[in-house]
Amino acid sequence: MNHKEYEALVKQVNQYALEYYQFDTPTITDKQYNDYYQQLKAFETKNPLLINPESPTQKVGNEPRKDLTQFNHKIPLKSLANIYNYEEFMTFYERMQKQLDLSEIELSIEPKMDGLAVALHYEKGQLKVAATRGNGVTGEIVTENIKTIQSLPQQLKEPITIEVRGEVMIRHSTFQKISHLFVNPRNAAAGSLRQLNPEITAQRELDIMIYAGIYPGIKTHTAMIRFLAKQGLPVCPDITACTVPQDIWRAIDVIEGKRAIYDFDIDGAVIKANQLAAQAAMGETAKAPRWAAAYKFAEEEVVTRLDDVEFQVGRTGVITPVAQLKAVNVSGAMLSKASLHNKDEIERLGIEIGDDIVIKRAGEVIPKVVRLAKKNNKQNPILFPTQCPCCESSLIQLESEVALRCTNTQCHDQVIEKIKHYVSRNAMNIDGLGESIIEQLLMEKLVNNIPDLYTLTKDQLIRLDRFAEKSADKLITAIHASKTCDLEKFIFALGIHHIGQVTASILAETYQTIDAFLAADYDDLCNIYGIGKTVAESMKVELSNPTFINQVIQLINLGVRPSYKTKTITGELSGKTCLITGTLAESRYKVEARIKENGGRLVSSVSKQLNYLIVGDNPGSKLEKAKNLNKKDAEIQIITYDELNNKLA
Ligand SMILES: [Zn+2]
Repeated sequence: MNHKEYEALVKQVNQYALEYYQFDTPTITDKQYNDYYQQLKAFETKNPLLINPESPTQKVGNEPRKDLTQFNHKIPLKSLANIYNYEEFMTFYERMQKQLDLSEIELSIEPKMDGLAVALHYEKGQLKVAATRGNGVTGEIVTENIKTIQSLPQQLKEPITIEVRGEVMIRHSTFQKISHLFVNPRNAAAGSLRQLNPEITAQRELDIMIYAGIYPGIKTHTAMIRFLAKQGLPVCPDITACTVPQDIWRAIDVIEGKRAIYDFDIDGAVIKANQLAAQAAMGETAKAPRWAAAYKFAEEEVVTRLDDVEFQVGRTGVITPVAQLKAVNVSGAMLSKASLHNKDEIERLGIEIGDDIVIKRAGEVIPKVVRLAKKNNKQNPILFPTQCPCCESSLIQLESEVALRCTNTQCHDQVIEKIKHYVSRNAMNIDGLGESIIEQLLMEKLVNNIPDLYTLTKDQLIRLDRFAEKSADKLITAIHASKTCDLEKFIFALGIHHIGQVTASILAETYQTIDAFLAADYDDLCNIYGIGKTVAESMKVELSNPTFINQVIQLINLGVRPSYKTKTITGELSGKTCLITGTLAESRYKVEARIKENGGRLVSSVSKQLNYLIVGDNPGSKLEKAKNLNKKDAEIQIITYDELNNKLA
């Protein structure tokens, strides 16, 4: 897109937005609108100086209708950042981990209603004002229309003053009666809510679901929803909270599975940091909160035949089933493969080879199989291999895992994936080693494993068809430059299962040298703040694997020097371990941050080595445990929040 085309598209999309938001008469689908919007965004990212302030990307929502009374929201109703696939979800999750400096974040997951957002103000329990979201800052007053909603109480159970937010919608069963007037329930809801005549609104039988409240003294989003329900408000259904990314993703899946069952339209799932203190700590950008995101369902689902299932081996040796499909057009692309995740997933889907299945593409990634469309009569179950599809060695299944693994460290496909990971940008950042070059190096037997990279010579490279003198020089230089590296990048580069960048950095901070890292013991690992059993388990497996250890030693012998840059903090708590139990007068994240600023190190459980136990209201079993240890020979200092503050003052 050139600048002229960009300007034209801004105008065009603004016109669509006007039709959509102001007149409730869209002329294009939401998907098309979003595609245009993304095109604008892509251009603006590349050409920040050319951004037109009128571009729809620069506004929160759209302008309120002039003939309705305007209302200024004290706390803006911001839109949410969209995510379309697991990768984007993980980016969101990892950003939260970094910002909150926690290894696990509790997130709430709930259906994303496809309706119209409103803010309702109750004073002493009475509904006083209802306003549409409008552009997020200024909305329109629609109190009389909102009062026509049967399920919404005009009087709460308690005489509290509170602002609540919800989504106004029309149920499918109701929409059938007026479907001749509107293209979809969302437009019907918008058109009916922004009516000048409440009598017409009343005939349309609007409904509402409340998804947020602004009220003091409540600690989590899920507790807030329970509180709102207790006040008699109709709340968003099926809200859950999980901490492990896989569980969160599964919860999103469950909501997507219910999409066809709900009597109202949903277009995704909303995920939020469940702790309100975490939300406050993360804050917001001008457009959207940092602590929430909307996972948008891909719009196009197509039916095709499952021809076969192939098995691939990944970096950590995990065997993944890949569906081979009768080629089919999805959103303009011909597709013949879809991911099937694992054995449990296949059982859940209940599919066999030859069945017609529904696939769906989420964002750019390869599509996934959503459900069975039509069973064929032949019995042709999907059989999992007992041998690695690449190297034919026997597969094993680790305790506590669904996945099958190939444990052959020479397995060709695995080695390629391992090297790709090792040289990647967030790991050792060795430029110029793309997949096809790695493939060639393996073919020519110049490289069999990661350490071999460091023995490559310029002469060897020049003999390959892809290299000239200069490019060979460049690659050799890049490989050697990687020898001086950060310990955390090196730990991440080793590609241990479950050790991502955040975990690698925690491990580097804890162990500080590669020798100490290699000597890590299981109980110590479990006791590190931010490290879970899963990581400890995975580390235990690798650290007792002689091939892994040998490889690391080889790398060191070849001159790789991972070093930890000590962020020496000399503070009141320097070198001391700390643990918090119970509720503090201040958000836990802030207290933890202060402990770290003062040189303290957080641990996750009470042991003899603990220096300080900071005790708040309603302390848990940790306090008992510390007292018991102190009766023996421990010297844990048990202090209150105030005492901690005095210490750090
Ligand atoms: Zn293998």
